[in-house]
This record gives sequence, structure tokens and C-alpha cells, in this order.
Amino acid sequence: MPKHSKKQTIPQERTKTIRQEMIDLLKGEKLSLRDLSQMVGKSEKEVSVHLSQIGKSMKLEMEGPECIKCGFVFERRGKTKKPGKCPKCQSTRISSPLFTIRD
Ligand SMILES: [Zn+2]
Repeated sequence: MPKHSKKQTIPQERTKTIRQEMIDLLKGEKLSLRDLSQMVGKSEKEVSVHLSQIGKSMKLEMEGPECIKCGFVFERRGKTKKPGKCPKCQSTRISSPLFTIRD
């Protein structure tokens, strides 16, 4: 028996990747990690890995996050991870960053 069977050509339409799906979603609106995770049915951790990959090849814009208590806006550091707490008032109530793709 041969160890590997011949690779079949899989039609592209059927194998739309999570990443492509995320790109399509992000082109339409601003979404948080949680939104994306629910929409594509993957964990937030997995979604954030895909997001950083998308950010390397596309214009991924990140909005916020900001402190819900004092309104401090965190700088965009190219990271998809939500900061732990506010450097100004030490509050841990931080809004989720929103992501979107500009054409
Ligand atoms: Zn604050």
C-alpha cells in the first residue's frame, strides 16, 4: 500500500479559511475579538493569532482600547491583546479594542 494517496484538488470555494472569513467580516464593520470569535466559531485566542497575521498583510486598523472609568485611551502598539489595567487610574475596566480593515 502506498503511504500517501494522491492529493485531490479541493475547490477554493469550499475551503474558505477562517482568516478569509475574518477579513470579509472586518471589511464590513468594526469588531472586537469576542465578536469575531463568536462569528467564526473559534476561540478568542485563535482569532487573535489570525488577526496578527492579517495585520501583516493588510491595513488592519485597531481602535481603542480605552479605560471605561477615566477614559484613558491606550496607544496602538500593534498588539491585539487587551491591556490588563489603566496606567492612569489602575482600573481594570478596559473596553475591548475594535478591529477593522480599510481598503
Ligand atoms: Zn483609567
